[in-house]
Amino acid sequence: MDSAGPLSGELNNSFNDLMDTEGNESGQAQNTDTGAALSGWKDLPMELLLRIMSIVADDRMVIVASGVCTGWREALGWGVTKLSLLCDAALVYLTSQCKNFECLNLCGCVRAASDRALQAIAFNCGQLQSLNLGWCDSITDKGVTSLASGCPELRALDLCGCVLITDESVVALANGCPHLRSLGLYYCQNITDRAMYSLAANSRMRSNNGHGWDAVKSDNKDGLASLNISQCTALTPPAVQAVCDSFPALHTCPERHSLIISGCLSLTSVHCACALHPHRAGGRAILSNQHAY
Ligand SMILES: [Zn+2]
Repeated sequence: MDSAGPLSGELNNSFNDLMDTEGNESGQAQNTDTGAALSGWKDLPMELLLRIMSIVADDRMVIVASGVCTGWREALGWGVTKLSLLCDAALVYLTSQCKNFECLNLCGCVRAASDRALQAIAFNCGQLQSLNLGWCDSITDKGVTSLASGCPELRALDLCGCVLITDESVVALANGCPHLRSLGLYYCQNITDRAMYSLAANSRMRSNNGHGWDAVKSDNKDGLASLNISQCTALTPPAVQAVCDSFPALHTCPERHSLIISGCLSLTSVHCACALHPHRAGGRAILSNQHAY
């Protein structure tokens, strides 16, 4: 694989050596001598690796580096937002080479995070558990519904500022991602009550189908534990209350502020059960007028 890029001098030579000896994806059956020589590179602190990559790397270099070892691959997935991926084609290729991404941070990567890239992620990265798409405002329901069907292990998804998505995305996530714990919909102003009722209905459906969700939910190990619907101004209190009632880990009270509805002045009547059942707040009685909005 060609590792061309704006590198120069010693770093360039070292990287070329590294790629010559370990450019393929398998990472197995390495020559013992070169393996020892590379160990220093592999042991680079991840922050330093990302710092170097953010300064010198172009799309191709990021892709090549992702093939070096599992540690680098995970670091690039976590820190790709700090890199200047130029286009979605690079991200599509990256996911085709790194199919075991569990965490991917694309917050603000507007040019890389397209619907096409999300479809590639869905196709390639079935183990993905955490994805940040904050402010990737070109993505639509097409990309998110692909994710929902291709990434059933998703635990955390941040779609804040993805202004084009609609209820269709949330309905698909509610149906396709039973382990979803954290969902960020800040400023997704096309979201309506239909999305909220879909989340609530799926919670109830899983409970009723005897999949053990009652037991799971009682331990707060599954189901939504964080939902940000700030600035989703089309939502009404009954729909949001239904979500709050369906997921015991969602709270509006200040101590456990996990259902975030700030900016939605119409939702001030929504509250968690703490005011009515103080034991849920660990024995601390919380008055409803103390809820944070
Ligand atoms: Zn509460």
